[in-house]
Amino acid sequence: MQIFHDVAELLFPQRCLGCGALGQELCPTCGASWTLRRYVTGKDDLIVHSAIAYSPIAGRIVLASKENGIRSADALILDALSYSLCSFSSQVSEGISLIPIPSRSHSTRRRGRDFLREITAELGHRENLVLKNILFHTRGIKDQSTLGARSRFENLHCALSAANVVGRGRRVVLVDDLVTTGATLREAARALRCAGFEVAGAITACVALPLR
Ligand SMILES: [Zn+2]
Repeated sequence: MQIFHDVAELLFPQRCLGCGALGQELCPTCGASWTLRRYVTGKDDLIVHSAIAYSPIAGRIVLASKENGIRSADALILDALSYSLCSFSSQVSEGISLIPIPSRSHSTRRRGRDFLREITAELGHRENLVLKNILFHTRGIKDQSTLGARSRFENLHCALSAANVVGRGRRVVLVDDLVTTGATLREAARALRCAGFEVAGAITACVALPLR
């Protein structure tokens, strides 16, 4: 699938990922909405470090990566995650593993890839950290985008499990593209702790402020 995207990017002139204007990958206006800053949310049991305040423009950039596989959008998400990981700099050690939140299987089929897994693998390569794909869904869940906080909690309650692999007890950091209510990350942390992992925290590219 990626080859089609690469050819498309060669054939069609560069457009802004945020607004579609011809010219740069990010026009000055959209670039101002994709400014890397340090955001820390969550509670004591799960602190979340993020780099970009979610906005309609940020949403279009995330979708360009997630749904359309546009490499330049992937690179922006990767940079944002790297920045978020830097917030952990005092805690991150060589022994830490990155754990991407799994996509629903039909989303992966539709997109032709597990976008977050790919980007987390790149991040691991860049930061010399191990990637573990050990989280999986134990049942079907609904699309969360239109659900409120309470519905998200019910939708996700015990919906994830962690594979029992070598390395139990090692410290892990969760990775996701966006934190909205924190329900997905908390469910992932619960599943990992049940399997004996120590969850040091989570990183996301974007954060929807204030958390719902
Ligand atoms: Zn723009």
